Amino acid sequence: MTDTLILRCSTGGRPVLVMGAVPDAEYWLGALTLRTTLFRGWDAAATVPGVAPMERPRDASSLDEAVAGSVLVIILDEQAPELASVIRAARAANVPIWVPGRPEAGTAEPVLPEKRRPARQTADHPEQTVSATRAAGGTATGFVSLVGAGPGAPDLLTLRGLRTLQRADVVIHDRLVAASLLAHVPPDAERIFVGKRRSNHAVPQEQINQLLLDRAREGKHVVRLKGGDPFIFGRGGEEIEHLMEAGVPFQVVPGVTAASGCAAYAGIPLTHRDHAQSCVFATGHRREGELDLDFDGLVRDGRTLVFYMGLHSLQDLCHGLIKHGMRADMPAALVQQGTTVAQRVVTAPLSALPETVAQSGIRAPTLLIIGEVVGLRDRLAWFEGTREPMAWAENPDR
Ligand code: SAH
Repeated sequence: MTDTLILRCSTGGRPVLVMGAVPDAEYWLGALTLRTTLFRGWDAAATVPGVAPMERPRDASSLDEAVAGSVLVIILDEQAPELASVIRAARAANVPIWVPGRPEAGTAEPVLPEKRRPARQTADHPEQTVSATRAAGGTATGFVSLVGAGPGAPDLLTLRGLRTLQRADVVIHDRLVAASLLAHVPPDAERIFVGKRRSNHAVPQEQINQLLLDRAREGKHVVRLKGGDPFIFGRGGEEIEHLMEAGVPFQVVPGVTAASGCAAYAGIPLTHRDHAQSCVFATGHRREGELDLDFDGLVRDGRTLVFYMGLHSLQDLCHGLIKHGMRADMPAALVQQGTTVAQRVVTAPLSALPETVAQSGIRAPTLLIIGEVVGLRDRLAWFEGTREPMAWAENPDR
């Protein structure tokens, strides 16, 4: 729990209540005098003279009183245990709330907008303000969390990802998300499946972008849950670009990408002092039927290549690499449903891999790893799947 300090500073007889951890509060109070944000009827830039720590109110009514007697409440610590009651009291007494850097989260109306674009997030769990404001009966601009769900095993989600899911009002999820992760979402949260199956284009990207905006504008905390890491072949960049243009605040929670997950669970270190000094992530996905790859640029000694979405282009990928100078007997592996109980790994020399895979009955999703490091698997393999290929987060409504 953050060490919360409630400070009161006087501006010409009108006290301002500041809630925050000590260093933050000092920083912001210092910064206040320099900032140019003006509030209607109150000039924040002009005066912040004496600042005195207040006795932390012992009971709810003295806290309410302190809030009601203030001209403005500044919330720096969005994890403070008193947050919800402070918001409630401020609303009851009509005292404006200001969350520095996130004017949309409060009620104080700046004369000059702080910034047109959503402010950079600094608080530990910025989405909490949305929930706390709503818990206090108010409305806030919503908030979007773009969360990486990890590579498959549900417990490879980050701790931050889990906490974010637990605070979701809406979850918009993909196909490559372990179904059991949705169990962490509050039962009354809305769940929307927008996954794409290869042959069946589910929800087009523009519609997903719009959905994120619409739900956030309802004042909700929207979690966009995506397989692996949102910024690695995940179109996460496109999604936040839309949010940014629309001025909707967001955070990005990284995830364990398929390359790290699959390689670790297959016993293939992606880099190794003796075998690979670099590693490249590439896509085997075709655009308008064509592989859009610079094979010449990819083939280098001492480099591991990882291909996402490579199963359907496997033959062309292997041939292309050999044609551009890669050894035909370079060790290569295809990992099916890595990190899950259905993990399977097929290895072969590069030239023989397509044939070996064709005979193996391997199923998507798969990740292709090529390089000397694949040879280490013979000694380093430590994990084996135990079950049939699994269905991934099937749409419960389908
Ligand atoms: N953003 C994701 C990648 C999305 S692209 C990430 O960071 O991992 C989807 C591709 O990722 C799949 O076609 C497959 O190549 C790969 N992939 C994702 N999860 C996988 C898994 N558990 N096992 C094998 N490949 C996986």
